[in-house]
Amino acid sequence: MNQSVERLNAVQAKIAAAEKDRDGTGDPVTLVAVSKTWSADEIRPVIEAGARVFGENKVQEARDKWPGLKQEFADLELRLLGPLQTNKVRDAVALFDVIETVDREKLAAELSREIRKQGRAPRLYVQVNTGREPQKAGIDPDETVAFVTRCQDVHGLEIEGLMCIPPAGEDPAPHFDLLAKLADETGLKRRSMGMSGDYETAIRHGASSVRVGSAIFGSRTYA
Ligand SMILES: *Cc1c(COP(=O)(O)O)cnc(C)c1O
Repeated sequence: MNQSVERLNAVQAKIAAAEKDRDGTGDPVTLVAVSKTWSADEIRPVIEAGARVFGENKVQEARDKWPGLKQEFADLELRLLGPLQTNKVRDAVALFDVIETVDREKLAAELSREIRKQGRAPRLYVQVNTGREPQKAGIDPDETVAFVTRCQDVHGLEIEGLMCIPPAGEDPAPHFDLLAKLADETGLKRRSMGMSGDYETAIRHGASSVRVGSAIFGSRTYA
């Protein structure tokens, strides 16, 4: 069997086990297979093995790879996980089914304009900088509730959930808990949190989707 497919199966099994461990009766966790840096030919076996939701972090790279794959496989969902510049909003709205990185007012305004223009509305997540890292994108935790409200009331955007990337080398659990708390405060149900190193922890702390790249495709040589 293809190595990525073998690893996909292992990740799916671990997700199922972690789902059983958590409190309550959460909805099933969505696995977002993060395919950045991998070619269409490297991604195809993973689609054929059943993965349907994929994440990319660059608009241009996704435009090069995904229109063809979306034509081959009708039911794929493509998510943008990387920073979105306002001059790429048109392309992003046209291509992605979900944009997880809404992180500033100007971007919210531009998304609102472009969604109305194209009549196509990707589902949206607000990215939260839970570790308040200066170099990292995302809304400050203290400003998240107000920002989500402005996205909804001022810009007319429908926000589906919150997303975070905890600081590298720190225990991610408090960051997952903070994101869950902020999601509750904003009345949002979906929480995108957890990557290859910590997706099981994220699920136990209330993730509704996890973004797993290297644990499926292997280690990346760049980006
Ligand atoms: C690359 C990336 C991932 C996946 O990272 P892995 O450690 O390879 O699982 C998840 N989320 C975002 C935002 C990313 O850029």
